[in-house]
Amino acid sequence: MTNLTMENHSFVGDACREISNEMSRDDILAHMRKHDVRFLRLQFTDIAGTNKNVEVPSSQFEKALDGEIMFDGSSIEGFTRIEESDMLLRPDYSTYRVDPWPSEGLSYSRHGLVAHIICDVYRLPEGTPFDGCPRGILKRVCAEAAAMGYEMNAGPEAEFFLFQRTPNGEATTNTHDAAGYFDLAPTDLGEQCRREIVIALESLGFEIEASHHEVAAGQHEIDFKYGDAVETADRLSVFRFVVRKIARDMGLHATFMPKPIFGANGSGMHVHMSLFKDGKNVFFEEGAPDDGISQLMRHYVGGLLEHGRSLCAITNPTVNSYKRLVPGYEAPTHLAWSMRNRSPLIRVPARRGVGTRCEMRMPDPSCNPYLAFAVMLAAGLDGIKNKTEPPKAVTGNVYRMSQRERSRLKIKSLPANLGEAVTQLEKSSVMKEALGEHAFSQFVHAKRTEWSEYIAAVHPWEVDRYLTRM
Ligand code: GLU
Ligand code: MG
Repeated sequence: MTNLTMENHSFVGDACREISNEMSRDDILAHMRKHDVRFLRLQFTDIAGTNKNVEVPSSQFEKALDGEIMFDGSSIEGFTRIEESDMLLRPDYSTYRVDPWPSEGLSYSRHGLVAHIICDVYRLPEGTPFDGCPRGILKRVCAEAAAMGYEMNAGPEAEFFLFQRTPNGEATTNTHDAAGYFDLAPTDLGEQCRREIVIALESLGFEIEASHHEVAAGQHEIDFKYGDAVETADRLSVFRFVVRKIARDMGLHATFMPKPIFGANGSGMHVHMSLFKDGKNVFFEEGAPDDGISQLMRHYVGGLLEHGRSLCAITNPTVNSYKRLVPGYEAPTHLAWSMRNRSPLIRVPARRGVGTRCEMRMPDPSCNPYLAFAVMLAAGLDGIKNKTEPPKAVTGNVYRMSQRERSRLKIKSLPANLGEAVTQLEKSSVMKEALGEHAFSQFVHAKRTEWSEYIAAVHPWEVDRYLTRM
């Protein structure tokens, strides 16, 4: 596969390299003129986390950068009612990037480049932030953290599968490899595809820390450097788009579905979290117990554990999410924390000092990253405000404990399915406040509908089990 990305065309390489997070409106306009950018995609996500965009040609660039492009929000999932549907897209200049691949359907040598920029959604005619915009919701919770003096850093590990397509291009669940964790197989299409993804992400300004084969056949992980919550959620939405796009260009199908194959590991999106104050990681405190875990971090963990059952519908938002949260596949099933052990919900990796953090292992990559970060931060802050003491960290394997032992240690289980998770979410005033009335009710309604459809459907498992027995 050659020329998948445009690294080897110096004009694209130059265009990508000349972008920085500090560009102003006029810097971006000058960059677009210099590098012959022809289209700008104004991106945002709906409540489900699906990427959406409005694309404008060069004649509209000034208007777009001035935040004057309107769209009709009534058809976007979880957005708004017909009678109040006019929305504005306000771009965040620090997110401007140029696509490092040939423009779809265009000959790039004649038609210039395509760029994108991430936007906040505003409401018209008021001109105020739209309370159903997931990025706006995360910004609001981050502002609450800032008012307490904290900045959240997040480092996600989004796993995904690469599957084959049929000759007609339809997705299958067949993998092209039989490799496992960290395997170094003779280079296969999956490994080649992973490299192309890494190159594209680097051209988009990502700092990639590592990429490797995951436990299941056809399963992969690419890790990028942690950053502040909003920036990292932006990156995740770009990441999911790039992974799917490059895979498709290579004739594969990439999926972030949490559990595509019964009997094999599912795909998680572990999130490493820490809070910083005046540039210092306040999860670390020299001399504190457990090699320096601060009291503040304990309260944060206490909040995550206390609200774990109610925020699960946001971090694990599909029917399929709960097929991953079962014993035996390195995914959590219970609300507990530990220092090293990977079976509980929260693990504290061995790193201390500036790298002190907790790893929440429940989220999966089908979630809306903005909402997932918002509810986890809100839960942690609630723990800090209420000085919530977490139960004792566990040392044993939670999967193997008996029910009695778990009750003795006060270890509760995660919701068993989406229906139970939505019921938990609905009861939580902390989650309602974090998401805001609008997004909260839209989300609960959408997920209740999804659950009812699933419950009513007759699944292949039932037919296999009962058709000939009854
Ligand atoms: N795939 C596992 C999960 O579902 C995680 C494997 C790992 O520890 O990276 O969360
Ligand atoms: Mg992993």
